[in-house]
Amino acid sequence: MLEERARRERLLAPGAGTAAACRKCDMGAQRRNNVYGEGDPCAQLMLIGEGPGETEDLLGRPFVGRAGQLLEKMLGAIGLAREDVYICNTVKCRPTLPGPRGPKNRAPEPDEMANCRPYLDEQIDIIHPRVILALGAPAAKSFLGRDFAISKMRGQWYEGPQGIALIATFHPAYLLRQTGGELEAVKRLVWRDLKAVRAKLDEPQAARAAPEQASLF
Ligand code: URA
Repeated sequence: MLEERARRERLLAPGAGTAAACRKCDMGAQRRNNVYGEGDPCAQLMLIGEGPGETEDLLGRPFVGRAGQLLEKMLGAIGLAREDVYICNTVKCRPTLPGPRGPKNRAPEPDEMANCRPYLDEQIDIIHPRVILALGAPAAKSFLGRDFAISKMRGQWYEGPQGIALIATFHPAYLLRQTGGELEAVKRLVWRDLKAVRAKLDEPQAARAAPEQASLF
C-alpha cells in the first residue's frame, strides 16, 4: 500500500505543478497560493468543495479555515480523519471580489470551473475513490448540471465521473451561517447524508466479492 501511495503521489505531482503555474484565468494572477488538494491518494472517499477561501489561499491547503474545522468534525462523526480522505475543490485558486476591507470570497464562475476541470479530472482519475462527496451546490452542479438543486437533490446517489458513486450535501460554510432551529434541521440532513456515505464505504467491494462468487459456480 505504501508503494501504491508513493506511485499515486508521483502521478499527482505534475498536475499539481501545472496548476501551481496556471494563468488560465485572472484568479491565477491574484492568488497568493494555488490550492491543489491533499490527503490520502489511495482514499476511498474524495471530498470536493467549491474553491479556496482566504485561509486556504494563505496556506495553500484546502479546508483549513472554519469550514475545514467543521468538516473535520463531520468526518469524525463517521469514523474518518482528515488524513483518511482526499480533499480538493472545483477550482484551485481563490475566487474573489473587491471588498472595502480587502478581497471577499465569491462562488467560482462556470468558465473558471471549466478551466480547472482538467486538474480535477486528473485527480479523480488517479485517486479513483469509491465515493465522491460534493460539498455544496457549486461542486454538485459541476458534476450534475446547473439544474441541480441542493435542498431537493442532496442525499441521493448519482453516477459521478468515471462511474464513481457521487452524493452531495450542504457545504460546511452553509452550516456555519445557520442558527437556532434552522441549524438543527440542516445538521440533521447532513448527518443523514454522512451516514449514507459511511454505509456506501462499508459495502463489500465488487473486487473482493468476485472471487467468492466465482467459487460458487
Ligand atoms: N470552502 C471550500 O469550498 N473549499 C475550501 O477549501 C475552503 C472553504
